[in-house]
Amino acid sequence: MAMYCRNCGKALADDARFCSGCGAQMYPPPPPVYPQTVTRLVRPRAGRMIAGVCQGLSNAYAWDVVWVRVITVLLTVFGGGAGLLAYVIFWVVMPEEPVLLPPPASYPPSS
Ligand SMILES: [Zn+2]
Repeated sequence: MAMYCRNCGKALADDARFCSGCGAQMYPPPPPVYPQTVTRLVRPRAGRMIAGVCQGLSNAYAWDVVWVRVITVLLTVFGGGAGLLAYVIFWVVMPEEPVLLPPPASYPPSS
């Protein structure tokens, strides 16, 4: 993968510290930032059917989302509504998955 001088655009070696054309200092590229793996109990925005509760549980515990939904429905139908109750409780307590934006690490000091 070629590297180019940000100053003059000359192609440089990957490990070049200075541009051989204009002498501008090269900085190593910033390390890639990977999104954190979702291990927390959150309601994902992708793959949800109602509120993402079943999808969130299956993501957090590596369960098959189909079985989570089947068990929820079975508990709702045959468990006297326990599945629905559990679903609503999870819906309330599980935070929604945050939108993938850089976190507001620092605010400019207010004057
Ligand atoms: Zn240059």
